[in-house]
Amino acid sequence: MPLPIESLSRHALPEVAKLIERAHAADDPVLCLALSEEAVSLAEALGDEQSIAFAGRLRLYVLYRSGALQRVFELTDEVARVLQEKGFAQPTTETLRWGGLCAIELGCVGQAIAWATQAYDVSEINDDTAGRVLSFSLLGGCFDRIGDPWHGEVLLRKGLELARELGQSYPLMATLNNLCAVMIGKFYLLRDGAANDEAQQALRETEPMSRTVTQMARESGNILHAAVSIGNLGEILVHLGKLDEAQTLLDESFALGKKHGLSMVEARVGCSFAELALARGDFDETVRRVDAIRALPEPTRSHSTLLRAEYCVYKAERARGNFERALQAFEAVRTIESQHTTQQLKARSEAMVTRIEAHENERRGLERAYAVASAHASRASELERAAHEDELTGLANRRSLDARLPSIAQAAQLRGAALAVALVDVDHFKKINDDFGHGVGDLVLKQIATLLRNVVAGADLTARIGGEEFVLTFTGDAAAQIVPTMERLRMAVSDHLWRAIEPELRVTVSIGVARAPEYDAISLIEQADFAMYRAKRAGRNRLVTAGLRPTG
Ligand code: GH3
Ligand code: MG
Ligand code: MG
Repeated sequence: MPLPIESLSRHALPEVAKLIERAHAADDPVLCLALSEEAVSLAEALGDEQSIAFAGRLRLYVLYRSGALQRVFELTDEVARVLQEKGFAQPTTETLRWGGLCAIELGCVGQAIAWATQAYDVSEINDDTAGRVLSFSLLGGCFDRIGDPWHGEVLLRKGLELARELGQSYPLMATLNNLCAVMIGKFYLLRDGAANDEAQQALRETEPMSRTVTQMARESGNILHAAVSIGNLGEILVHLGKLDEAQTLLDESFALGKKHGLSMVEARVGCSFAELALARGDFDETVRRVDAIRALPEPTRSHSTLLRAEYCVYKAERARGNFERALQAFEAVRTIESQHTTQQLKARSEAMVTRIEAHENERRGLERAYAVASAHASRASELERAAHEDELTGLANRRSLDARLPSIAQAAQLRGAALAVALVDVDHFKKINDDFGHGVGDLVLKQIATLLRNVVAGADLTARIGGEEFVLTFTGDAAAQIVPTMERLRMAVSDHLWRAIEPELRVTVSIGVARAPEYDAISLIEQADFAMYRAKRAGRNRLVTAGLRPTG
């Protein structure tokens, strides 16, 4: 059963129904779209709302398949409204789901949630379990998109349970495909968060599920689901290192996508090809694949696909020593990431409470589930922040420094710009803790962080890297000014009104400074550390610049 469209065409006027059936039978995506447009025009000319809705629904599906996200987004409300008014529950839910999936790709998660909710309400009124399953599946996708695949997984598994009870292949297939996509999303999130074991575990869990749905989709003859599921399985196998089998599957999915004009599949599978080539060390092929994705029409390349693609280029170019290109790709990654984060934050605020959940919890008496779910919802953002931010001072942390300094150094080197690093260590900090208590110690650290922010201008990065140690990096003109800048900080610390905290409290810092010619992050920090140590030995509350290393 490819789609229930064929059997539903009988609800349209006979002339329109004929066109709908012809469109549905057309193998060629261009012809299929042309025929469905014709069906809509004819229905409009005949002025029959129900025919307009059914022809419109087919056109919507064809557009959805071809990745014309924006048009689907614009047409969804109208088609769904008529179908709902005429009492066609399942076609309404399905329409809302396509619209919602496009809205997710376009980053309009608020709208996607609204449509998921509407779909759920329609299913409830008509006691339509398949519709409920599809609503869950859409809502799960929404949570994945806002950076919380954990919550997405919870919802999709709930939908899966319902779909299994129901025993119909279409909702089961749709749910399994969405669940696989969410699990893959979880994999990327965990991998990028450096939780590699957990990431691999998520994939291993997904592999059998992905095989099942691939089999189902092949048997069903539903081209879109087949292309998506085969592509997903290929993607999973790339990351599990089963490269040859992955290649075969990706070839198959790509060919299906190409033949039927499924450009969303093309973009996603293209990206998996790039990752496959990267895994094989074939960097030319990696870049070639990504170039093909860049050339696709914009709305068909989702943020997550673009992010994966540019990241591949970054790795490939770095591996073959092409640092300028690597840097360009790295900057592209950062730009996409920040756009992505902004969209996620916006969507997250829209998503915190959804009526579906409220309703469902009420229905099943699962009050606790919502508390758990919203805890999940904030987990991703907390993890993300905790991963890069020092909790006490809000400055960057050690991990963030390690991640960013190499690229700051590389960028400076490429531009031929000066690069310098300062390491600041509080003097006798242990004694401050001992004399005034740990709470005062913490206040001192926060106050120093404030001084670092206010007194020091032009630092690229200010990080707290350990208990009472801070690192600052400077490039270009700011690097040339590092000694006067850090001297100002040193004096600002020793002149600060520490008495306001404790009458006897005095605080000073020792500072080590190191400058490139060596554009090597680790060596610069080491040199700054060594200079700081010399400042300590020379009596503290002073700044020392790394010179020649003493020998012997
Ligand atoms: P020096 O002048 O040689 O740097 O002496 P010091 O006492 O500052 O150096 P040392 O490294 O011996 O002591 C650092 C102390 O910082 C030890 C530890 O208890 C304290 N510390 C580490 N993290 C924190 C924190 O987050 N808050 C507070 N209050 N103290 C911390
Ligand atoms: Mg120290
Ligand atoms: Mg110290």
